[in-house]
Amino acid sequence: MNYDIIIGLEIHAELKTKSKMFCSCDNNAEGKEPNTTVCPICMGHPGTLPVANKQAVEWTILTGLALHCKVNELSKFDRKNYFYPDLPKGYQISQYDLPLVYDGYLEIDNELIKITRIHLEEDTGKLTHLTGKKYSLADYNRAGTPLMELVTEPTIKDAQTAKKFCQTYRQILRYLNISDADMEKGQMRCEANVSLQEKGKWEYNGNCEIMPLGDYKLNPKVELKNINSFKAVEKAIEYEIKRQKNALNDEEKLIQETRGWDENKAKTVSQRAKETSADYRYFPDPDLPPLEIGAQWIKKIKSQLIELPPEKKKRFIEQYNFDQETAEILVSDKNLADYAEKVISELRAWIDSTGDSWERQKTKLAKVSSNWLISELFKHLNCDKLNIKDIKITPENFAELIALVYQGKINSSAGQKILEVMYKNGGDPTHIMKDLSLEQIDDTAELEKIIKKIIKENKKQVEQYKSGKENVLQYFVGQAMSATQGKANPKIVIEIFKKIL
Ligand SMILES: [Zn+2]
Repeated sequence: MNYDIIIGLEIHAELKTKSKMFCSCDNNAEGKEPNTTVCPICMGHPGTLPVANKQAVEWTILTGLALHCKVNELSKFDRKNYFYPDLPKGYQISQYDLPLVYDGYLEIDNELIKITRIHLEEDTGKLTHLTGKKYSLADYNRAGTPLMELVTEPTIKDAQTAKKFCQTYRQILRYLNISDADMEKGQMRCEANVSLQEKGKWEYNGNCEIMPLGDYKLNPKVELKNINSFKAVEKAIEYEIKRQKNALNDEEKLIQETRGWDENKAKTVSQRAKETSADYRYFPDPDLPPLEIGAQWIKKIKSQLIELPPEKKKRFIEQYNFDQETAEILVSDKNLADYAEKVISELRAWIDSTGDSWERQKTKLAKVSSNWLISELFKHLNCDKLNIKDIKITPENFAELIALVYQGKINSSAGQKILEVMYKNGGDPTHIMKDLSLEQIDDTAELEKIIKKIIKENKKQVEQYKSGKENVLQYFVGQAMSATQGKANPKIVIEIFKKIL
C-alpha cells in the first residue's frame, strides 16, 4: 500500500521577559532554589488577579509578523481546564479561538510551510520523579513563564523538513532576542503530529484538518513528545513513520495517542490515549479583558523587525555569491553573520583603496573569508566552547589577516599560526607576522639559491623528473618548504624549479 506522510508541528518557546506572564515574579529562575520565584498570583491563590505581560504580547505579535502572520484585532485569553500537580491553579491560561496571530508561513528549502497560529500561554511547574520514592517533587518557579506556542498546518511531508523548520524557527527567535530557545534546557519544546493516509483517499481542508474522501476512514494521528534535540525531532518522526507503516501493512489497529521519544532505546513509547479539545472545557478567562490590537500598535511592533535568517541567507548568496551551505552556516548565528559582514566590508574598503574593482574581487575574497571563519576560527571557538561575540579578534584585524593570505604575503600555515596568536591575545596580524618572521619569501633570487642547492643534492629525483615523472615536483616543493621553515611562496618555488629543470 502507498501512503502519504502527514506531519504537523507544535513548538513551545519560553519568552525571556523580565517578569512572568501574569504577575511580577522574576522570570529568570536559573540557579535559584525551588519555589522561590513564586507569588499568590502564579500559585492561583483565591482573591488574586492576573495582569497580562505587555512585552510577552508584543513579542508574540513580533514573531507573528516575522513569519508573515495576520494579527487578530481582537484577541483573548481562555482557561484550559485540567488537573495535574504541575499546574497549581487547576487550569492553564492559554488562548483558544482568538490567538494573537494566525495564518503565516516559513520558507524551508523553497517550500512554504504554513503556520496556523501562534498563541500565548503560561508555562507549568516542573515535577521531578525520584526513582524508588513514593513521592514526586514539585518546583513552581517555572509556573507562569510566558510560553509562545506555534502550530503548523499538517502539510510537512518528511522528517528532515520538520527538523529544519524547528532549527530555522529557533534562529529567528534568537535573532529577535526574545527566547534563548535552548532545547536541552526545555526553553524550546517541539512536538510532532504524525499520521499516514492512503494516497488519494483524503484531502486537506486548508484549515489544519485532514478530511477523508468517500467512505475512507482516516488513520489516527500520533502526537510525539519528549523530543529534546533537533536530531531527536528527525529520528522520532522517522521511527514513527516506520512503525505506523508496518502496523498498517500488518493490519494492526493504530490508535490516536501520545507517544514519548525514548532517546536511549531510539524508539517511541505509548504515554496516553490522546484527549480532544472538548475534554479541556475551554472558556474565556473572566479575569483578563480581551486585547484590542490596533493598527498603530502593530506598526510600532513592526518597526522592531530586523533582517531574519531566511532573508539574510538569500541576500548573502546574491550579494557575495556564497554557496547554500556556507550562507546557511553564516546566518545561523546573528553574531557570526554580523561579524562576517564587517570583515567583508573592511576588505571592500581595502580593495577600493587599491583602486581595484570590488565586483571583480568580491567572490574570491568572500570565499576566503568564510573559509577562514568557518574552518579555522571555528576550530578554536569549538574547542573552547565560545561564541564569536566573545573573541578578542576585531573584524578589522581579521580582515587584515585575510588580506595577507589573499595577497600571498603569508601562506596558509603561517596564517594559522598568526590566527592562533590573535585568538589568544588579539592584536594586529601584520605585527605578529613580523614578530614571528612568518613573512612569505617571494624574493626570487633568494629562492633560486635554495633551489639550486636542492637540485644538486637530489640527483636521483632530478633524473626521475626529467624522464617524465612530473609528480616528483611535489617532493622538490616539500624540500624547499622545509629549507625555509614553510615560508617559501609555493607558486614561485614551482616556477623556479620548472625553469631550472
Ligand atoms: Zn508570581
